[in-house]
Amino acid sequence: MLLFGTIFDDYLEGRRALTERIAKERISILFSLAEERASSEPGLAKSYIRILERIRRHYHVRLPKRMKARICHNCSMILVPGLNCKVTVASSSKIIIYRCMACGKEKHIVYK
Ligand SMILES: [Zn+2]
Repeated sequence: MLLFGTIFDDYLEGRRALTERIAKERISILFSLAEERASSEPGLAKSYIRILERIRRHYHVRLPKRMKARICHNCSMILVPGLNCKVTVASSSKIIIYRCMACGKEKHIVYK
């Protein structure tokens, strides 16, 4: 019984790792698609980000920092500096501020 339990746990762990890997792969594909379409078709880019968020929530996957900084969580838009977001650096407090031009929401990222 104990042996079966361990094998079953390994099986579950393997499955979890596999689904997490697939979810991360899909997230990165959706992110790059949204990046490509941000200027030409912002509505489509927004829907890619919404799908990405749904996958992330469903599989409890954490977004990499580089992606997290580039998504406006207020309006689900991918933030492209110079196109739809303004980036300022507050060097005194060591914060990078991404301001979404669509909704005005600010995102503060701490750097070291
Ligand atoms: Zn926004």
